[in-house]
Amino acid sequence: MQQVEVVGDAPSWAMRLIRQTLADADVEDIQNPLQRVTVEWNNRPRYLHSDGLTYNDPKDVIVINAGGSHKDQVWVVLHECVHAIIGCGHGHDKWFFRYAYPLYLKAGITPAYFVWRDAYYVAALDVADEMGYTRITGRLRNMRERYLRNFRKYSKENAQVEDDMKGFKLVGKLVLPQGYPDV
Ligand SMILES: [Zn+2]
Repeated sequence: MQQVEVVGDAPSWAMRLIRQTLADADVEDIQNPLQRVTVEWNNRPRYLHSDGLTYNDPKDVIVINAGGSHKDQVWVVLHECVHAIIGCGHGHDKWFFRYAYPLYLKAGITPAYFVWRDAYYVAALDVADEMGYTRITGRLRNMRERYLRNFRKYSKENAQVEDDMKGFKLVGKLVLPQGYPDV
């Protein structure tokens, strides 16, 4: 348990999730302990998906560009928290995903969703294999070319919601791969 001051303009559920995740950070011997994190929250409701950016240096800043899907907002908040916790020097290596996946699971995001969302990075698939999600990684490896082609749509502001929805269905506020059992 560490004391981390989190300031910013994210919705209260997101501020709570960030505070909790950073306070619970299971990182020992860090040379630059997390002390204060500033969150900048931008809404972009025309888009389904979110993206984010985290700076560790010189100050810790998490920027969230929030799309319309609440589930995707939770995913991006946790993804950016992991950057803040383990340090940007790790990028998206296996350590990153070994830390992130249990957090996503704890927040109730399914492996089918979060592995798909992080699958741009090969290490995300490797760690998913380690966790036994081999049916998911098999499918994502088979569709790798299409995935990479469409990745900008998943992550950048150039996609309309309808573009992003091809092959996916909206259940409540959640976006799920077609064929995924209803929740
Ligand atoms: Zn990232």
